[in-house]
Amino acid sequence: MSQKEKYLFGPVPSRRLGLSLGVDIVPLKTCTQNCLYCQLGMDATQAIERKDYVPMQDVLAEIQHRLQAGLKADYITISGSGEPTLNSGLGWLIDRIHENTTIPVAVITNGSLLWRPDVRNDCAKADVVLPSLDAGDPETFEQLNHPHHSINYAQFVEGLVAFRQCYTGPIWLEVFICDGINTSDISLQNIGNKIDQIKPDKIHLNTAVRPTAHPSIRALSPSRMAEIGQKLGRNAEVIADFPKDKAGSAECTPESVMETLFRRPCTIDGLASSLGAEKKAVLYAIKRLLDNGSVISDERDGLIYYKPFPK
Ligand code: SF4
Repeated sequence: MSQKEKYLFGPVPSRRLGLSLGVDIVPLKTCTQNCLYCQLGMDATQAIERKDYVPMQDVLAEIQHRLQAGLKADYITISGSGEPTLNSGLGWLIDRIHENTTIPVAVITNGSLLWRPDVRNDCAKADVVLPSLDAGDPETFEQLNHPHHSINYAQFVEGLVAFRQCYTGPIWLEVFICDGINTSDISLQNIGNKIDQIKPDKIHLNTAVRPTAHPSIRALSPSRMAEIGQKLGRNAEVIADFPKDKAGSAECTPESVMETLFRRPCTIDGLASSLGAEKKAVLYAIKRLLDNGSVISDERDGLIYYKPFPK
């Protein structure tokens, strides 16, 4: 991997996509929402305008460089540290990736802009789209996702339904479960009703296994998640952890550790798995980063996570 890369991360093992090369096309925490469970904090200004947030020719050049170097990945995933549909060059980039490789392209989106025809057209170019729906009613949407004031819940759901009607590829809908917020019977029933309208191909249930923006958000136990999956029905699947043996061996430096931590808090084991590096090398890099004040640790459910020192 080139040290000068600015827009790529990984390939990293992804629970949903196998080995995934991440492509980041908006600056850190540029998003239409401010979810309580966000791993990027809750201090960013929300964005709603679609524009070229980063130079897309440079993003493409980095991808082409990786492909020429023999990239092995199950997906090239446009996601990263914010909402990728905010970038008005999304469709252009997907077309260019398809011209350069047969590796399928995934888009991970919060779905809040799918009411816009231009966003639907851009996302429809992807081989799989992974939107989110965490709330079955406007109040929970406000409480949990803190959308930009111009985003309206009914319009948000209509966008997801309209996308299903125009997109023939797979839609894998993520539902993020937060204890006490969207876990009541009525909340789950409301979510189920919306899912029936959206008709995704898969439903992925997630919970706060990593530190989140809001300290009160805690992960549900596997048994409670399974129970919620049963209540929701419709073949909802609790996302399983990625098997560790898919990562290879790789160099681990403080820089590569920071690159991963800027995108999500990780444990030592998680970093070793993400980077394909030996645990000892990760420990050494983390010690250096703790010593120079670049990272801090955060305990969650008995596990120690590391994340960048907040600015
Ligand atoms: S979790 Fe995703 S959608 Fe929610 S605020 Fe963070 S980046 Fe945006």
